[in-house]
Amino acid sequence: MHTYTLSELAKKLRAKEFSVTELTQALLGRVAAAQPKLNAFVTVTAEQALAQAKAADAAIAGGQAGPLTGLPLAHKDIFCTAGVKTSCGSRMLDNFVSPYDATVVEKLGAAGMVMLGKTNMDEFAMGSSNETSFYGPVKNPWDLGLVPGGSSGGSAAAVAARIAPIATATDTGGSIRQPASLCGVTGLKPTYGRVSRFGMIAFASSLDQGGLIGLSAEDCALVLGAMAGFDPRDSTSVDVPVPNYMAELDKPLAGLKVGLISEFFGGGLNADVEKLIRDALKVYEKLGAKLVDVKLPALPLSVPTYYVVAPAECSSNLARFDGVRYGHRCRDPKDLMDLYKRSRGEGFGAEVKRRIMTGTYVLSAGYYDAYYLKAQRVRQLINADFRRAFEQVDVLIGPTAPDVAFAIGAKADDPIQMYLNDIYTIGANLAGVPGISVPCGFVRGLPVGMQICGPHFGESRLLNVAHAYQKETDWHTKIPAAFAAEKLS
Ligand code: GLN
Repeated sequence: MHTYTLSELAKKLRAKEFSVTELTQALLGRVAAAQPKLNAFVTVTAEQALAQAKAADAAIAGGQAGPLTGLPLAHKDIFCTAGVKTSCGSRMLDNFVSPYDATVVEKLGAAGMVMLGKTNMDEFAMGSSNETSFYGPVKNPWDLGLVPGGSSGGSAAAVAARIAPIATATDTGGSIRQPASLCGVTGLKPTYGRVSRFGMIAFASSLDQGGLIGLSAEDCALVLGAMAGFDPRDSTSVDVPVPNYMAELDKPLAGLKVGLISEFFGGGLNADVEKLIRDALKVYEKLGAKLVDVKLPALPLSVPTYYVVAPAECSSNLARFDGVRYGHRCRDPKDLMDLYKRSRGEGFGAEVKRRIMTGTYVLSAGYYDAYYLKAQRVRQLINADFRRAFEQVDVLIGPTAPDVAFAIGAKADDPIQMYLNDIYTIGANLAGVPGISVPCGFVRGLPVGMQICGPHFGESRLLNVAHAYQKETDWHTKIPAAFAAEKLS
């Protein structure tokens, strides 16, 4: 059962080959067996999952099932879940139980999906390796000594190890696409404003976007339809109708114009990774696509721009964690200042503190113009680069990450090296455009992802382009050897 994609599971449940309860029990068994190895979950919601499964079985038996009824998923622990702990990977929220569901959780629950649990993540989604979590690092299922990527490392590892067929995730600078690439699964970051941020704990509000990590573009299309849409509770949610993402999946690619970002090839990109991307481009040419070189001259500035804008927004968003209303509170505070200082000092980890300090610095009166304002200006240039590129081409294709997964600890003491992992993904967040990472081969036995970006609200086209590749190749069906067996020891 564990090897089926969501689309296959949906068919088999309808055909009554097995029940939702049997499927849920089997996956919960895999979750428990894999947890000591992968540490992919912060919370497993077995009891609730079995209750949801029972309700889904009743709906199927009664002929009231929708397309997602009974399909299992995991939620990144950044999405608030009523009655279930939402930690955001932080000690600060280790005791936090939300009184309400995030819109994404509410919508997918209402569609009949069964939540297996909450996935581990970098603290407040800050990181590229899942090493900053208060709950310890997540391991890469392809090699337990390596990182799964971050910040949605738990979601990516869970899907790659076939312990959850799909998981929600969030992407502020690459946190869906980069771990999807490093774990050999498919990760979709929608357009900024496409998926509601209500109840999704804020890191950098102008960049954060919820999305999916799944086994195929088709699976992402299936769930995105139920997850996307205008939400009056999120002021940045955009009121654009949600298309039927499944309907355009099989559109022929003849005449598709594929842009290659010159700035993404060459310096800094592993040569073997580059070769795999070039091989994938040949598949597109065979399908009738035309390759065009495009220049996005401001794009190389995306990492420094992001590391001004994101910390600035994070320093403001995280000001709410003050030990007063909710979250961690220090013991026996002397006075109010002591309460603030020690609650925040104890509750936040090193990377979060580094970001808050950077953010308050770039926003401070003396440096605002030199850093924050300048970064906002460069952001506009990057935006304009993408807009111009999409006047010439339908999609942009390139690498998702400069290299394959690295060893746990290898970059932990070098923030700049860590930040450079997102060099190819951050641009899409600054411009707000959608991006998807799909597996396109292996280097030294480790998965490599290819990134496809499209214009604002171009998810249908992206999914279509990714799906066309997945019909021609089988990279996305490869399973890490240690998790291939139905029964995990
Ligand atoms: N790795 C980037 C960071 O550390 C992006 C994180 C994300 O997308 N949430 O900020």
